[in-house]
Amino acid sequence: MVLAQQDEVWSMRRLVNLHKMKRPIGKVIVNPDLCKDCRFCIEFCPNNVLEESKDVNIKGYHYPVVRPGKELDCVACRMCEKVCPDFAITIVSEEYTTYDKYYGVSRHAHGG
Ligand code: SF4
Ligand code: SF4
Repeated sequence: MVLAQQDEVWSMRRLVNLHKMKRPIGKVIVNPDLCKDCRFCIEFCPNNVLEESKDVNIKGYHYPVVRPGKELDCVACRMCEKVCPDFAITIVSEEYTTYDKYYGVSRHAHGG
């Protein structure tokens, strides 16, 4: 199947299935004082959820925080948790959103 056809099929599938497909909303919990600002978590996040804090921890390092406006973008893949060499990040996932809510009318809805 050529790429254009694949794109067309994918966009059709998205349209019919969006209201059924659920994905987790991850909550990022950071222990700031364990962080040494290696930035692995920031660089490896597939959704660009994290950025450096403006504040520093007790060791003088910037630590990761969720970017403003990205509060619902964490998909709980746990990549940041796995790559952190200092176990400074924990991801919990107790809420889900459907893709139509995520991309559509109720961008800020939880659950569903
Ligand atoms: S769990 Fe995944 S999506 Fe969420 S902040 Fe970590 S790397 Fe990004
Ligand atoms: S991967 Fe861990 S130590 Fe490195 S910046 Fe992120 S939280 Fe800090």
